[in-house]
Amino acid sequence: MNASGGKVEYEPVIGLEIHVQLSTRTKMFCGCALSWGDPPNTHTCPTCLGLPGALPVVNERAIHYGIMIGLALECEIAERSLFHRKNYFYPDLPKGYQISQYDVPLCRGGRLGDVRIHRVHLEEDAAKLNHLGTSGRIHGSDRSWVDFNRGGTPLVEIVTEPDIRSPEQAREWLILLRTTLRQLGVSDVDMSQGSLRCDANVSIRPAGSTALGTKTELKNMNSFAFLESGVKAEIERQKRLLEEGEPVVQETLHFDPRTGNLTPLRSKEEAHDYRYFPEPDLVPLMTSEETLAAARADMPRELPAERASRFEHELGLRADTARLFAFRAELGDYFERALAAAAQNGRDGGPGLEPAELSNWIAPLVERIGSDTDPAGSNVTPESLAVLASMVKAKEISRDAAREVLTLLVHEGGNPRVIVEREGLSAITAEEDGLAELVDRAIAADPAAADQVRGGNRKAIGPLVGYVMRETKGRADGGEVTRLILERLG
Ligand code: ADP
Ligand code: MG
Ligand code: ZN
Repeated sequence: MNASGGKVEYEPVIGLEIHVQLSTRTKMFCGCALSWGDPPNTHTCPTCLGLPGALPVVNERAIHYGIMIGLALECEIAERSLFHRKNYFYPDLPKGYQISQYDVPLCRGGRLGDVRIHRVHLEEDAAKLNHLGTSGRIHGSDRSWVDFNRGGTPLVEIVTEPDIRSPEQAREWLILLRTTLRQLGVSDVDMSQGSLRCDANVSIRPAGSTALGTKTELKNMNSFAFLESGVKAEIERQKRLLEEGEPVVQETLHFDPRTGNLTPLRSKEEAHDYRYFPEPDLVPLMTSEETLAAARADMPRELPAERASRFEHELGLRADTARLFAFRAELGDYFERALAAAAQNGRDGGPGLEPAELSNWIAPLVERIGSDTDPAGSNVTPESLAVLASMVKAKEISRDAAREVLTLLVHEGGNPRVIVEREGLSAITAEEDGLAELVDRAIAADPAAADQVRGGNRKAIGPLVGYVMRETKGRADGGEVTRLILERLG
């Protein structure tokens, strides 16, 4: 409660730190292969095991990928950047330090969609700890096992500015980032496998304030849904604290998606001084013109954020539809194929179909095949969706009938025209006597409504139109029926 007795409105402020495992052939500083699912500790060498005297050599492919990511995020690429040692003690780190970039990263500044990028830097991943409880005994004991295969995997860390304002935006933005990275081809970007990992920094402040509140950090949100629900839960927790007059304490929290609980994490970095110092075994990383040119040459023609902008501004789609199609590339690809088919229909004498009109048929399709399914793998070809949309546009079938046809297409595939014919779903038009007669019957069945319409009450037409639609099982065109009824009633 504030002084006036009303509730204070709070605005969430969110910044993300994202780790991306690069899909190079070898590790960041040695020649060991990256491997998935190989037996533990089969891809190690003196360098990635941290044996004395072993020297790191920078993986050029990782630099190349790092620069591509920087370019995609519109960052400034440093001509010269530095590797540091980040010192801490933990069993997953055999050297006792991680080689990372610190005060002079490879990329600075930038933007993706509506979120600014603070920095992008290169580092190496730690080894993987496998914790075994009593149920998972190996060699007859409860222990933690270290698999050094992952140790030394090239990582890129992306740090955003605190520009995100809601849990939903955090989720949508991370999907945009994933689609962008996937298109660059630099990573598997699979959250469940850990090749894309996200920590969320969360604070709240009174709406209208520009000062930043105290933040907490949610570690390792390992799915898009957990990111959204974890941030949501943390915002609620912070609101409750402030409303009770308690301060938010800066700490690292663990979110349990099953219970929705947030508990303080005894983190390896809590209250740690990493004693950063420049890595003495590596020279500064210089970005040559040739390196930059090679990265530019490898960039895709159109990244998802640009595609969303083209869908919205050139094709006239609604902003949220444009983002959905661009961020879920398979939807965008399907839509563009349907659009090409519609354009061909148009050239062949069919009705011209606006991209926005066609786009309205993607959601009903996705609804029928399941939201995680690629429509390209469904029974409905982009061509048949375009035909269906154009039949509605040409008033050959009603919208309701088209939805029914779509359901049939999803189940059996085939040609929408054939289905319409077979099911007798083609629209009843004014020229057919049937419709005029039905209009007369509707008026006779509800004289009171007819009188009201005659008296100038347009809204009273609803039941009359409804009668005709019911009698035709939705095959009549609503607009046409309305027009006919008004004509009859003067
Ligand atoms: P730290 O030094 O604790 O790591 P940084 O300033 O490096 O903090 O920021 C880390 C991340 O936290 C960035 O993504 C940044 O945008 C975000 N962040 C910083 N301050 C806040 C805040 N008050 N509320 C929410 N997020 C924040
Ligand atoms: Mg940080
Ligand atoms: Zn190695």
